[in-house]
Amino acid sequence: MIVNKDDSMIVKKWEKYKEYLENGLWHVHTNYTDGKNTVFEMCQKAQEKGFPAIIFAEHVRKTLNYNFDDFLSDIAKASDKLDIKVIPGCETSIMDSQGNLDISEEVAKKSEVVFASFHRPVQNYADYLLSVVNMLKNPIVDVWAHPNIIPKGLSSTGVMIPLEPGMTVEELQTIMTLAAKNKILIENNIRYKTPKDFIDIAKIQGVRVITAYDAHRVGDLDNLDEYKGSYIPKNQFSLPLV
Ligand SMILES: [Zn+2]
Ligand SMILES: [Zn+2]
Repeated sequence: MIVNKDDSMIVKKWEKYKEYLENGLWHVHTNYTDGKNTVFEMCQKAQEKGFPAIIFAEHVRKTLNYNFDDFLSDIAKASDKLDIKVIPGCETSIMDSQGNLDISEEVAKKSEVVFASFHRPVQNYADYLLSVVNMLKNPIVDVWAHPNIIPKGLSSTGVMIPLEPGMTVEELQTIMTLAAKNKILIENNIRYKTPKDFIDIAKIQGVRVITAYDAHRVGDLDNLDEYKGSYIPKNQFSLPLV
């Protein structure tokens, strides 16, 4: 009998796109929601920049104010015209401590990659931890997006302000062990500057980490060096890591 070293019975949709984990342009928005460019424009720019794949993470809610099928058809058209792998995905919010998500079953089914994240201010830290644990157990989740952000509010420019100091090392280790077991990808989010030691802990626990650009306009990719340059990973924890 051949025993697979990876004996997990869990199969995730993202596994079909394993070859793009390290070189894909992960987490892209369009003008279907708060992005500034079309699906085609984002794909064209991604191809120009040499990415072999682009993975969209369009914002969704249970009730959409746009037609998800139109979005999918734009993706199919871009895919036909361009020489880049175009993968439809969506980003949904974690709603409660049960880890329920603001997404319809239909949209979840039609998305090749489901990104889950916190966008609303967290009221209670214990509830937050519980919602992370339950979200990581939710079978439809592929990626935990901007995982370092525990929002306590929004800045005047609409960027989430994180609750400090955030998780303890022990809490993070426990959570990352669960993420690894359930094959949830974790973002190293350029926009939200995921701390380096946060990522290190995830990797030590066996989690696959993707670089997420969280791109909202072609300009984010035009000035990729500058965009990436604004990414100064700092450490979150003061404890020495063993
Ligand atoms: Zn987000
Ligand atoms: Zn996003």
